[in-house]
Amino acid sequence: MVSDAFADRIDQLARLAVHVGLGSVEGRELLITAPLDAVALARRISHYAYAAGATVVTTLYGDDVATLDRFATASDASFDSAPAWLFDGMANAFRSGAARLAIVGDDPSLLGGQDPARVARANRARSIAYRPALDLIARSAINWTIVSAATPAWAKAVFPKLTEQDAVAALWDAIFKASRADGEDPLADWQAHNANLKARGDLMNAKRYKALRYKGPGTDLEVGLCDGHIWCGGASRAENGILFNANIPTEEIFTTPHRMRVQGTVAATKPLSYQGTLIQDISVKFVDGAIVEAHARTGEDVLKRILETDEGARRLGEVALVPHASPISQSGILFYSTLFDENASSHIALGQAYAKTVKGGGTMGEADLLANGINQSLIHIDWMIGSDQIDIDGVTSEGTLEPVMRQGAWT
Ligand code: ZN
Ligand code: ZN
Repeated sequence: MVSDAFADRIDQLARLAVHVGLGSVEGRELLITAPLDAVALARRISHYAYAAGATVVTTLYGDDVATLDRFATASDASFDSAPAWLFDGMANAFRSGAARLAIVGDDPSLLGGQDPARVARANRARSIAYRPALDLIARSAINWTIVSAATPAWAKAVFPKLTEQDAVAALWDAIFKASRADGEDPLADWQAHNANLKARGDLMNAKRYKALRYKGPGTDLEVGLCDGHIWCGGASRAENGILFNANIPTEEIFTTPHRMRVQGTVAATKPLSYQGTLIQDISVKFVDGAIVEAHARTGEDVLKRILETDEGARRLGEVALVPHASPISQSGILFYSTLFDENASSHIALGQAYAKTVKGGGTMGEADLLANGINQSLIHIDWMIGSDQIDIDGVTSEGTLEPVMRQGAWT
């Protein structure tokens, strides 16, 4: 049964997605992707996008049942194929100014029982085909955002002890809270939240640390930062001039690590849910920026295949700080979704770096990006290394240490 209160909250989230997530869609097309189970939210987002002046809203639905059936039924050649025409079309739409919104609600273990080699091939083919569209998103040529919807499979993974119906209700609750969509005035709450994140980023920018040092159980890591790195967080401005929030929720400030200057060992503090496989208890060792050893209690195969995607896949493309006191972290819920879990915890990402978080990076060609330590890869995978047991220091240009976080809290 859909109560009025629930419908109101879906409306709040849809309004946030359009007005805070995308910022503006006036006079633009909007491309939405969504799981079939998210149709209620997708329709309300479409509604508010038209109300805000969007010209055409196109929603593409994904179907987990058909995805699984592909692994059961398709020819071997299927796993090296991807609909390049679709992604080229997306890239064309972005070039003509379309905004992009993704509703996510993935079943974290959808592909868990499938052949990891096939999963890796399918992901690789998709990543290559998606690259032209992803490039435009990565440099924020357009305004784009990601929000989530409580789907039954995801809800059951997060709340395995509840009935499906109760699990879905509990997950929606958690999504509304984490997305700051449950207050009296969510738009005003987001304005204040964005201002806080910006202030925190400005503080880190003023420090100009050359590296961050992490210490905690299983972790003794130094992450060198790119020269000219810029800490960003909250709203950002797209090349089309629109102020947008790429992720709802977002709690992080992040910047670009130097692809050659990462040393030491680090243990993940949460499982990583990657394209339907759960990778637990990751532990890796870095030498001169590259992972030279990688272990995981489950999903180690998949992790190792990820690292072999390309040269940049075993190097870092993002470093992000999130206080342990963030609402998502405090909820204590493990969402098995990067969008949420990365905002519960300080994290790093393997693979592609955001060039825009380095001075001048936005206009550099590939050779210059690499020469400046800005990593390039087909993948970008966030994983969590923060907790209330991790201390983080900033390394000044003189090499002295200053406390940045103690036991997961800002100092
Ligand atoms: Zn991040
Ligand atoms: Zn990331």
